[in-house]
Parts: sequence; C-alpha cells; structure tokens
Amino acid sequence: MKNYKSYTLSNFREIPQLKEIDEELKHSIEVVGHVLPFKTNNYVIDELINWNNIPADPMFILTFPQREMLQPHHYVKMEIALTSGDKSIIQEVANTIRLQLNPHPAGQMEHNVPEIDGVKLTGMQHKYRQTVLFFPAKGQTCHAYCTFCFRWPQFVGMNEWKFAMHETELLVSYLRNHPEVTDVLFTGGDPMIMKTKMLAAYIEPLLDKVNLPNLQTIRIGTKALGYWPYRFEFDEDSGDLMRLFERIVESGKNLAIMAHFNHPVELSTPTVKAAIKRIRATGAQIRTQSPLLRNINDSPEIWAEMWRKQVNLNCIPYYMFMARDTGAQHYFAVPLVKAWGIFQAAYQQVSGVCRTVRGPSMSCTPGKVQVLGVSEVPYNGELKKIMTLRFLQGRNPDWVARPFFAEYDESATWLDELKPAYGEKEFFFEKELKEMFNEEIEDTEAGNLE
Ligand SMILES: *Cc1c(COP(=O)(O)O)cnc(C)c1O
Ligand code: SF4
Repeated sequence: MKNYKSYTLSNFREIPQLKEIDEELKHSIEVVGHVLPFKTNNYVIDELINWNNIPADPMFILTFPQREMLQPHHYVKMEIALTSGDKSIIQEVANTIRLQLNPHPAGQMEHNVPEIDGVKLTGMQHKYRQTVLFFPAKGQTCHAYCTFCFRWPQFVGMNEWKFAMHETELLVSYLRNHPEVTDVLFTGGDPMIMKTKMLAAYIEPLLDKVNLPNLQTIRIGTKALGYWPYRFEFDEDSGDLMRLFERIVESGKNLAIMAHFNHPVELSTPTVKAAIKRIRATGAQIRTQSPLLRNINDSPEIWAEMWRKQVNLNCIPYYMFMARDTGAQHYFAVPLVKAWGIFQAAYQQVSGVCRTVRGPSMSCTPGKVQVLGVSEVPYNGELKKIMTLRFLQGRNPDWVARPFFAEYDESATWLDELKPAYGEKEFFFEKELKEMFNEEIEDTEAGNLE
C-alpha cells in the first residue's frame, strides 16, 4: 500500500535517488522543466526507473525533462532567464519558446467540436463516425507527465482549449441524436485520476439500455496502469471502481480500458500485474497502445517484448503510433521508413495472438494513417521504391482501408512531408479534404495515445 506523492519542479530535488545524481543533470531538468511540463510520483521513482542506468534509462527519459528536448538556443534563453530570478521574465521566455513548439498540432484548438442546437459541446470531439471522445472536466491531469505528451500545453497553463465538459446530459442527448455512434472514449489527461464517485457520475447515465441502444462500447483511455497501478488495487476507492466496472459489463456494454504502456518495464511490477488481473476479473478488456519514441522504445526487441508481455497478462495489443509533431518531437521522432522497419521486425517475432496491433500510425488531419510498408515496383522500365499507406480511420469513412502510394522518403517523419508517387499532384483524399475545410469543418485529434 502506497500513498501517492507527487514531485514537480518545486520539490524534485527532494527525490532521494536524485541526491546521487550530477548537479548538471538536475540543472537541465530545472531549465527544460520551466518550458515543458514535469510531474512524477513515488511509484515511477521507486519501481520503474532504474537508477543504476542514469541518464540513459528509458523511464527516466520518459518522466524527467532532458536537455536535448529543447533546441540549444531555446535552452540558453531559458537558462539566462532563470539566472535573472525574475518570475515574469521566466514566464515570458517560457511562453515565447512554447509558442515555437507547435503547441496545437493540426489545429486542435476548437475543431471537431460537436454541437447540439447550435451550442458547442467543448468537452467532446467527434471526428470518426463511430466514436465520440469525451473529456471529463475532472479528468484533465495525470498521475505523472510523459515528456513526449502532445497535451503538454494544457499542463503548463497554456490552455485556452478547454475540452472540459461538465454535463453528461449533453453527451447523452448527443448520443441519442447520433445513432451511428457506438463508442464513447473517455480521455484527458487521464480519467482515472478521478475518484470513483466522480467517474461513476459520468458513466452511469450511459448505461441505460432503453435510452442508448446504439452505445456498445465504453472506453477509458488511461496511463494509470503504467504510472499508478495502485488506482486499481490499493487506493481507498479501488473496490468501488471494480464494482463500477462490473456494473458497466453487466449492463451489456463492452468496457475497454485503453492502456498506455511505453516500455516493458511498466508491465513488470507485481503491482501492475495484480491490477491487470483485477480489472480483467470484472469482465473489462484491456487494449494497449503507445507511440514509437526514439530514446525510449525504438527497437523491435522492445516492442516484441511489450506485446508478448501484454498478451501473457491478458491484454490486447492495439496501436503503435508515430510521435506527434509538437513539443520535443525532434527528440522523439523516428522517420516513417525506420518506424515501419521496427514494426515489421517486431511483428515477425511474435505469434498471431500479438498481431492484433496496428501501426505505425499517424494521427493527422485527414485521419489515422498507417504505413503499410516499402516495396519495389517496376516503373518506366526500372525498379522503384515506393511507400504504401492506408487509412485506419478517416475523416471520410470512405477513405478507410484503401491503399495509396507515396514517393520513397527515408527522412520523412510525418504525412505532410510525403509526396504522392507516380508523379501525381495530390493524394487521393486531398481535394475532398480541402473542400471539407472550406466548409469549415475543422480539425483536431485525440493525439498520441488515442
Ligand atoms: C484515435 C481516435 C479515435 C478512436 O479510433 P479507433 O481507431 O476506433 O481506436 C476516435 N477519435 C479520434 C479523434 C481519434 O484520434
Ligand atoms: S501521454 Fe497521457 S499520461 Fe502521459 S502526460 Fe500525456 S495525457 Fe498524461
């Protein structure tokens, strides 16, 4: 049994294990942590980070800001601001740098926000036909922050885009008006940060069969299994949480915990194993996802191990994502061709039960786009490398599962860096996408993890 203790910029020097660590490293945490969000907790510190492997340890890099996460000139700028000791200067420099880090990739400020009778439901997004994202107001923080997180602006108080919505009633009436929706995905932050009572207040109105026959699956996106598995086993209301899960399952809905695991180490502690077992015993499913991150998990062995461990623990591998074009992306990004290579080499090592996973996938403006691979095809009398891609989710459902082709490009890290193959001017969806934008259907994303 553990009590949650969190560490942020103001008290991280109290972490006992850091006492032994170079002052230089602590200084860089301080500098970068003034720009990118930083929060960790005693479980991550005591159970996940290998303190004999600093600074290379992947869990250390995942939670502690690293010097190279800022461009050198940004780093120096913040370092100078800090020596001034002037809070308003520090704040101003921090915000100037943040604005240069593409804080709202694919314009996620106010797009895909559904409406009822002309009223914008700002705590929801509806981009793909079957699934509505719901951002409960009380679930917009996390047990610890990931240094790669694309939601970083909301943790550093830059958040005009409040996805928060208080009224589950509005969600229910939206679902009633949209019989095509089968899934609601609770996301955040991390909804599992909420007390069970609060979570139940959001979920229970959705369980009424008569009212919402279309709703089949309730998903909860969470990193709590990775960062605070006590949530499911020892927290004072964890028993109530399991009973809530049971009620969802008994109501006839599928309950899918969409768990974020970035490294096999997160699947290795007795606490996480017990938590998974307990969740599975309620009848809930656990599906797993993670971005592919340089310096954290950019090898096929790590992914193969992760998928195997997940299946052994009764979880279903679901998505491998590309790191999004925001924040410290330069630090984490893996080129698409290399990412596909890692995916393929990992996929080849595991049996079919692990191959429920799909990836590598980019969450971008037109949809979720998977890199299917590189092939050599005859073109104008010679062999030419091309890349094949397809939509796993599309802003237009008709785009899904149609292979399309791009010029081979070893350095591209994102869809907008790719050119259509065979001298085409545009990808097949681009004209229609532009028309959609002209109609002011705007864009947003569930991001790295959804
Ligand atoms: C990823 C995502 C979903 C869920 O997609 P699935 O493929 O069904 O898991 C829903 N909405 C948005 C905006 C997303 O990015
Ligand atoms: S990636 Fe998920 S768990 Fe990590 S900080 Fe972002 S929202 Fe929180």
